[in-house]
Amino acid sequence: MDLILRHANLPDGRRDVDIGIEAGRIVAVQPGLGASATIETDVRGRLVSPPFVDAHFHLDAALSLGLPRRNVSGTLLEGIALWGELKPQLNHEAVAERALAYCDMAVAQGLLAIRSHVDVCDDRLLAVDALLDVQRRVKPYLDLQLVAFPQDGFYRSPNAEENLLRALDRGVNVVGGIPHFERTMADGAASVRRLCEIAAERGLLVDMHCDESDDPLSRHIETLSAETHRLGLHGRVAGSHLTSMHSMDNYYVSKLLPLIAESGVAAIANPLINITLQGRHDTYPKRRGMTRAPELIAAGVTVAFGHDCVMDPWYSFGAADMLEVAHMAVHVGQMTSLDGIAAAYAGITTNAAKILHLDDYGIAPGCRADLVVLQAADPFEAIRLKAARLLVVRAGKVVSRSEPRASALSLPGRPASLSLEFMPGSI
Ligand SMILES: [Zn+2]
Repeated sequence: MDLILRHANLPDGRRDVDIGIEAGRIVAVQPGLGASATIETDVRGRLVSPPFVDAHFHLDAALSLGLPRRNVSGTLLEGIALWGELKPQLNHEAVAERALAYCDMAVAQGLLAIRSHVDVCDDRLLAVDALLDVQRRVKPYLDLQLVAFPQDGFYRSPNAEENLLRALDRGVNVVGGIPHFERTMADGAASVRRLCEIAAERGLLVDMHCDESDDPLSRHIETLSAETHRLGLHGRVAGSHLTSMHSMDNYYVSKLLPLIAESGVAAIANPLINITLQGRHDTYPKRRGMTRAPELIAAGVTVAFGHDCVMDPWYSFGAADMLEVAHMAVHVGQMTSLDGIAAAYAGITTNAAKILHLDDYGIAPGCRADLVVLQAADPFEAIRLKAARLLVVRAGKVVSRSEPRASALSLPGRPASLSLEFMPGSI
């Protein structure tokens, strides 16, 4: 074998497991693996996780903070206006350069798969071409999936339909939408129908920004679920944000949850963004705005958590850290039960991978050897500490390495976090 990681803890609770890697694939996951390898590393009870997956991001806007100016009010609407000011000033190289810089940050954070929406409401399709270029360039170390996103409205923006189809023709392979931003509720529903039909005709996945408001009467997730069911798109559709569900009538939600589950529509919440952008019209009590993640999970819906934004017109913060995303999800969603913590971790790993339809993802024989060694013993500790990514491995090769943090002291009885011994220079 090429590489064996010995004495690993896995996210599912297995302890003291050896992971054997050969020719870029995981070939063995078992205690006391008898084989030998060119490089053997004792991870001494640290968590070895499949890589983080961000199910919802905007790479075309990431790291643009301050261009052409800062968002003074910090609101969603000023963010959209600011993006409108920046768009005409963008060029291919600048968009690609920022996106590549973000992908470098992502890899260092163990984030090896990103689903990014890309704005198609620009007749030049400049961001589309730039991100398709970036997608090719990062392929050896990061899976970048692109969603054709009509930011200014599929029907509200003059050429959005034509531009969206052009983007799909160029190789973008997920259909996006923004029904709550259309002129009327009826236009929003019509956009959902048309976009789902486009996806069905072309055999594509769907991921729509859906009901991203505090409006308790917004109903686009209902339409998205019904259209998914009508067109037989089960398992291929995600609704992103769904923040209006936070404010909906409880009786209506009791009907809606089984409808979403029946259609196999996944839900993607963006806790960092939802907690900062929603509830802005409230005095007190002030709504949190994140969708009903625990209730969706209990209803059998696949739920993932996305980063959405990093240093862009909508959100000034962020560092490509999916553990920060899960940390916020646990707090906003009050997911502090043991099951809740496990679900938050699944939301940035396995569930997100399922939504992206990533092949060969996971720590099991046959999977591609993508993994992260964390300075933590288990998912709880990883989220609590936003733990250092000691090693990031892609297809069996180390692509990033970080020093352990001296401040990250473990609980008594857990493995010492400070030793460098397990990281021989030979890797
Ligand atoms: Zn978004």
